[in-house]
Amino acid sequence: MTTVEYDHVTKQFDSGDQEVVAVDDLSLDVEDGEFLVLVGPSGCGKSTTLRLLAGLETISDGEIRIKGDVMNDKKPKDRDIAMVFQNYALYPNKTVRENMSFGLEMTTNLTSDEIESRVQETASMLDINELLSRKPAALSGGQKQRVALGRAIVREPTVFLMDEPLSNLDAKLRTDMRAELQQLHEAIGVATVYVTHDQTEAMTMGDRIAILNDGELQQLATPLECYHEPANEFVASFIGSPSMNFLSLSYETNTGMGTSGSITYRFTNEQREELGEQTSVRLGIRPEDVEIATEEGPDTVEAVVRVLEPMGKESIVHFDVAGESMTASVPAEYNFESGDRVRLKLPRDRIHTFDTDGGATIF
Ligand code: ATP
Repeated sequence: MTTVEYDHVTKQFDSGDQEVVAVDDLSLDVEDGEFLVLVGPSGCGKSTTLRLLAGLETISDGEIRIKGDVMNDKKPKDRDIAMVFQNYALYPNKTVRENMSFGLEMTTNLTSDEIESRVQETASMLDINELLSRKPAALSGGQKQRVALGRAIVREPTVFLMDEPLSNLDAKLRTDMRAELQQLHEAIGVATVYVTHDQTEAMTMGDRIAILNDGELQQLATPLECYHEPANEFVASFIGSPSMNFLSLSYETNTGMGTSGSITYRFTNEQREELGEQTSVRLGIRPEDVEIATEEGPDTVEAVVRVLEPMGKESIVHFDVAGESMTASVPAEYNFESGDRVRLKLPRDRIHTFDTDGGATIF
């Protein structure tokens, strides 16, 4: 069953003589209990997508439904949602207990006893019972974040909306909170729409991730599908760290060879069929799939070592391949120095290819 539906949703901002299409004909569903992450670079429209669902922006075109009910003209308070913001948005003059209970007092007919027991229960879940009498100024960043979560959870909404809720926390706390949020989500089982610009956060937290660019949905799939089967070059380059390498090759149908400067790469017969009549192709390969070749072969290319970044067990090595840069993670025992010439193997069962016109995946 579906909790949230975006049905051909467009949001256009008119600021003076400039029109910005922040969300462009977006259709996607959030299933019951699903943790859906909206991810993409700055300005891609992810916050606007969330704010449209929250009712903080009006929709220019299309429809948003929650549990089948059209939300377009409903006020935020009538949408049965709870939102957690990056800056926590706690009331500074209220205690933690009051911050958590206030929404319930305003929007429900629960008795004060019922409200108190919900607050206690949620506080136990988040381990913040001891903080209930404090004001926000007396809390650490991580504690404020828990209270902000508590305030959302206590309302028992149909859907949680979270806009970069961990971005103000330091790296260690952020990693801990990620895991904790996932556990909370599993325990509560309420559909969640979570915005982040951080692909690692998206990959580790999302049941599915929706990757946006320029207001358009690029791919909606599980993290592993996005990693292994990216819909296009944008997704391929956005997901994965370090990023996928790309080589622009001229392609000759007759020979099945891709060339760039002095390098040649021979595709398999099966791959040639998929490449069809292309005259050029973008070859992509992830740094973890690049190998140091021990001999020449149809899938090897010459490379020059540029920079070495030792990471302990492995090193990230930056190479120059036919004038383009390529990175590979290689075992630390390779003691490369800048200027070394090596041969890299780009295993043919590991490569991706993209159309040079528009970046759609070929295989
Ligand atoms: P970030 O990660 O930087 O927060 P985002 O992906 O969340 O970015 P949005 O904030 O949704 O992106 O913005 C999408 C586009 O819409 C941007 O080009 C932005 O400048 C524009 N935009 C957002 N809000 C408004 C507004 N109120 N008026 C005009 N343009 C806006």
